[in-house]
Amino acid sequence: MPLQLRFCSLFSGSSGNASFVSFGETALLIDAGLPAKTLTAALDAIGVSPSDLSGILITHEHSDHVRGLETLAKRYRLDVFASEGTWDAMGPRFPGLLPRQRREFRPEEDFYIGQVNVLPFEIPHDAAQPVGFCLEAGGKKVSFATDLGHTSREVIDRAANSDVLLLEANHDVEMLKAGPYPAMLKRRILGNRGHLSNEACALALQKLLPGLKYVFLGHLSRENNAPELAYAAAEGAALRLGARIGSDIFLSVAYPNRTAEPVVLA
Ligand SMILES: [Zn+2]
Ligand SMILES: [Zn+2]
Repeated sequence: MPLQLRFCSLFSGSSGNASFVSFGETALLIDAGLPAKTLTAALDAIGVSPSDLSGILITHEHSDHVRGLETLAKRYRLDVFASEGTWDAMGPRFPGLLPRQRREFRPEEDFYIGQVNVLPFEIPHDAAQPVGFCLEAGGKKVSFATDLGHTSREVIDRAANSDVLLLEANHDVEMLKAGPYPAMLKRRILGNRGHLSNEACALALQKLLPGLKYVFLGHLSRENNAPELAYAAAEGAALRLGARIGSDIFLSVAYPNRTAEPVVLA
């Protein structure tokens, strides 16, 4: 039976990440990287109460992904799903979470939350056991892949044929190199387990595009990127393939400090 899919990037960037996805009655938050109050207000603005959520999926333990997690999960008694490595890294920081709220998954093993099939997949990033997610129900698919140093074959395979894809476009390589960050941090970001550049994002899109519908460019760096640059790189990839933006493919930027236009697919 077809289910209505709703997707909304609430916040995306190193100042905090959270996305909302629902398939029919099953509603999920992906990451909770802003204060619980901010997350609650952002959900409220799209007509969702945190108590409507069926759970929170966590990609990895970096604070821009979990800042509001404990307060939100405690207040609304929400289950939190993360990999074993992520729990080992973040669990002790959240003593207020009850054992039964601490749900563990294994990367590459799918499971269900309500009607939604969740497949966590490994991503190359400098965290304990970071993952991206594919969520599928009613013949529709949403994928998340941010915080990754490169797009491995695995990431490409998983993200293929998504109705909605949130893909990282973190930095413009030249801006980063010329920018104010210390050399060590630049090396970290540019590394194989750091963050995805606009160029690498565009190359990944070139491999993925024929099967995608809505693409959000996410986790943009404020210091080392500009929305126009990220967009132009991705647009270039689409145009090279002859895809028409706004009909074959919808391309948007997911912003750090404001909610993106929600996608609703019946
Ligand atoms: Zn991050
Ligand atoms: Zn991270």
